[in-house]
Amino acid sequence: MDRAQARAGPRIVTPDGQGEVAVIGGGMVGLSAALALLQRGRPVTLIDPGDPMGQASYGNAGVLSRGSIFPIAGPGLVAKLPGYGLGKCVAVRVNRRSLHTMVPWVRRFLAACSEPAWRGAAEALDPLVRTAIDHHMALAAELGITQRYRQTGFLRLYRQAGGLAGAARERGVLERFGIEAQPLDARGLADLEPVLAERYAEGLHFNQSMSVDNPGAIVMAMRDAFRARGGLDLPGHVRAISSLGDGVELVVDGRTLRFAQAVVAAGVSSSTLTRPLGDRIPLVGERGYHRLVPWSGNAALSRPIYDVAGGFVASPMEGGLRVLSGVELALPDDPPDHTQIDAVLADAAGRLPIDANGAGPVWMGSRPSTPDSLPVIGFSKASRAVVYAFGHGHIGFANGPATGQAVAALLSGDLPDVPIEAFSPRRF
Ligand SMILES: Cc1cc2nc3c(=O)[nH]c(=O)nc-3n(C[C@H](O)[C@H](O)[C@H](O)COP(=O)(O)OP(=O)(O)OC[C@H]3O[C@@H](n4cnc5c(N)ncnc54)[C@H](O)[C@@H]3O)c2cc1C
Repeated sequence: MDRAQARAGPRIVTPDGQGEVAVIGGGMVGLSAALALLQRGRPVTLIDPGDPMGQASYGNAGVLSRGSIFPIAGPGLVAKLPGYGLGKCVAVRVNRRSLHTMVPWVRRFLAACSEPAWRGAAEALDPLVRTAIDHHMALAAELGITQRYRQTGFLRLYRQAGGLAGAARERGVLERFGIEAQPLDARGLADLEPVLAERYAEGLHFNQSMSVDNPGAIVMAMRDAFRARGGLDLPGHVRAISSLGDGVELVVDGRTLRFAQAVVAAGVSSSTLTRPLGDRIPLVGERGYHRLVPWSGNAALSRPIYDVAGGFVASPMEGGLRVLSGVELALPDDPPDHTQIDAVLADAAGRLPIDANGAGPVWMGSRPSTPDSLPVIGFSKASRAVVYAFGHGHIGFANGPATGQAVAALLSGDLPDVPIEAFSPRRF
């Protein structure tokens, strides 16, 4: 009897938590959990429909941002919301036809806009985020892909003077956590990145941050390592999860399979899987788009940038510059809307040495986002055999490997090495 057949039979969870684990979702978070579990000697089956291009983990900006400890909700944001709703801001678009379905999420988002909530979220995220680069580099060394990682830093750019002064509150918090954010004037920016000369007035350089040259290639390398280390791939969609006395039952495209334990790491689709287990998690997809654009001539940026007024991130990658749009709040079935990516690409082409005519196809993906911008990491209400690992929003590529270690610890009865109480699914 092979492992796939054995799964249909009853499974006993031994007190030390041995037995087969199903990991649902093969993006950065699910693969990280799967590899961490294999490392602990656990047999793992990874269930995913198998379209890597559709994952957020494939098309992101590839920034391992040390400074990204702040939630999206924050003091001052409420005043900007009417502009977002009216489509006046390139950084954030809302599909108004779908907005009514997001009311519970929006309500919680508004509640998270207070200063104490903003500071509390930064406090909760810092311990996870500060370990992100070490976890990535350990994994990269194991997988032999360190050449894809670059000590570039990450540059936030302001077109007008006054941007740095506006970031004073944030810089105070960053300093408290030992996060370096070096203020630069126009001259300092030009010294660091000659192609930016006379384009921006001020900037902040997060010099402890890193970036990668191809996030999709990193996810593929993780997948290859998973297979090479004995992990079992099961292509398919998990349609339902239920808790058994001694384990977990999954319906995978019509087949019912039993496992000792399961990890829900299905990105933006995760909350539909958690509902039957009694966990109603407010989760929306913050869509983003990218296009890969060739450089024009020999000039190039050497690090990722975030143009605050332009509402875009541009990240040097294998094959050119990946230009990424901001946030579009829409439902999974809403058709793609290229308004934002068209606008930011035209804008970026006026400021950066790229050939917009040679831009590659539009990619679209969804950041799995909670209203308080904290991930969901913890046991389900129904069973300690099911652990959730999703909702990382804008920082899931960076924080996947650290999350994977925390998940593997939980399923083995150990304490994770970072505090995860604030990420509990019970907070909703
Ligand atoms: C434009 C953009 C830029 C970004 N930039 C950055 C950045 O610079 N740095 C950073 O850290 N993060 C960034 N992010 C965020 C980051 O990409 C995500 O937080 C992260 O990739 C989420 O990983 P995940 O594994 O949770 O989800 P995903 O990568 O989306 O993977 C989820 C997987 O679950 C599978 N799945 C779904 N439903 C089921 C089911 N029912 N059964 C089985 N499998 C299922 C899917 O097929 C998919 O493979 C960005 C995101 C976007 C969109």
